[in-house]
Amino acid sequence: MRARLGNPGRDALVLTITFAAIALFVHLATAVIPTAIGAAAGSAQGPDLALANALVLNVALIIFGWRRYRDLTGELAARRTAETAALGLADRDPLTQCLNRRSIAAHCASLAATARERRETLAFVMLDLDRFKQVNDTNGHAAGDALLCAAAARIRVLLPAEALLARLGGDEFAVVVPCAPNQRTVIERLTESIIAAIAEPVAFEDTDLETSMSAGIVLAGPDCAEDPQVLLHRADMAMYHAKRTGRNALAWFEPSMESDLKLRSAIETGIRRGIPAGEFVPHYEKQIDLETGEIKGFEMLARWNSPTLGRITPDVFIPIAEELGQITELSESLIRQALRDAQKWDPKLTLSVNISPVQLRDPWFAQRLLKLLVEANFPPARLEIEVTESCLHENVALVRSLITSLKNQGVKVSLDDFGTGYSSLSQLRSLPFDRIKIDRSFVMNLVGDKDNATIVRSIIALGEGLGLPITAEGIESEAVLAELRTFGKFSGQGYLYGFPENAEKTAAELAQLNLLLEPAPALAPAQASTRRRA
Ligand code: C2E
Ligand code: CA
Ligand code: CA
Repeated sequence: MRARLGNPGRDALVLTITFAAIALFVHLATAVIPTAIGAAAGSAQGPDLALANALVLNVALIIFGWRRYRDLTGELAARRTAETAALGLADRDPLTQCLNRRSIAAHCASLAATARERRETLAFVMLDLDRFKQVNDTNGHAAGDALLCAAAARIRVLLPAEALLARLGGDEFAVVVPCAPNQRTVIERLTESIIAAIAEPVAFEDTDLETSMSAGIVLAGPDCAEDPQVLLHRADMAMYHAKRTGRNALAWFEPSMESDLKLRSAIETGIRRGIPAGEFVPHYEKQIDLETGEIKGFEMLARWNSPTLGRITPDVFIPIAEELGQITELSESLIRQALRDAQKWDPKLTLSVNISPVQLRDPWFAQRLLKLLVEANFPPARLEIEVTESCLHENVALVRSLITSLKNQGVKVSLDDFGTGYSSLSQLRSLPFDRIKIDRSFVMNLVGDKDNATIVRSIIALGEGLGLPITAEGIESEAVLAELRTFGKFSGQGYLYGFPENAEKTAAELAQLNLLLEPAPALAPAQASTRRRA
């Protein structure tokens, strides 16, 4: 709201006229009023007509001046209210009434001064809701707003009176609390109580919205001299660390986080540039029939040799690509290359590719994969996708329909890293997997470790019971292979059979085994089998 403001020049003139009118009124009134009273009493003649008119005009001028004065004070009050409202808007987040990014820094200055006087310091706590986007996407923006308001209210009641609470944008809040420099546990307990309060469901219409919160904490130095923005940034780094190590947790800032974050942001930039530049290439790991020793196929594993950062392992870049929303693009670029490479292999060899849980959330995933197969003219029956157990507890119904539609097209689906997740027997039975892969952590240390041997043996028994073929991964030694062989018939893979190799080296090895077709462009499967080398 903007107040209608008066014209200052005109107002000054009105005031001058009013004062002049009052002075003139006093002068005229002393001349006119006694004469008029005398005339009314019959003891004198009436006042001079011109003087009487001037007096009336004078009264009118005073009334006019007074009304203008009254309007002016009204306008001033309105202007003051509007200015206060505007200041409030600039200072506060309109949704939650918390301070905002700009104003918290200004308020920190006075809080820091008081803390210095009391020989205290300030704790900066950055708070961020976990998976807020999911709530927004699934339940709508009104639900998201309700969750933010509830979160702000729950944080506010837990804070001491002098603490500052700001919403920095999105689902990110910051808290600044004065505390004694040695009171880390007090701040930690306060943060834990905030995390616990946020974990309580928020009722919205007829659903319960659930979320959790991650927090990062840093203390200002003893003299609170640091720039609040720097401290907020450090608390932010700690918060990201908490998120990466499992969410719903808190972390204290440590100087190493600054360099970690720089590396991470370099990796992010590298991924964005590297995908279109073709820096990500597939390597292939042999999958062996343990009984016959024959190669059954290959698992494609992504490799990245960044021109600026050097070799980065998939355990590092895959999760970052997932967070960046680049995993589909990255995975499709790798699968496209892998299908082209596998076209040159003997058609009895299969190709396994790892699929991230993020990709499985895409309702169009099956269609996208089939499109790649059609483009490459690759028989779906030769493709196997590997999904990890963690996919299962995200949305079993979606995963089931996806696996079913892939299977209908002939693509096989394996459950990867089995034994590390939480899939229940009933889930295993209800989902139409074609294969279980025993996680390498159990296989690698099989020899001499009774627990691992028991786990491997029971997974094999489970597979046999459900009629599911098994692959043991992580076979590094002859000793492990010998032990595995005593458990039954199944497939395996691991460094014992060689490290994953690039397309050229894989092709060279296959050529020696007479398992490579002429290096020719995409062929129809029927043609391909006739082109096999003798
Ligand atoms: P994974 O699917 O379990 O792949 C097997 C990993 O074990 C590979 O690591 C492989 O190099 C390693 N490995 C194989 N045999 C042995 C062995 O005998 N001993 C030991 N110590 N390790 C062995 P890598 O290539 O670093 O891949 C790590 C993970 O990254 C993979 O685990 C997979 O989950 C993921 N990944 C790799 N490529 C892709 C991809 O294209 N897309 C997706 N979504 N994930 C991928
Ligand atoms: Ca795998
Ligand atoms: Ca695996």
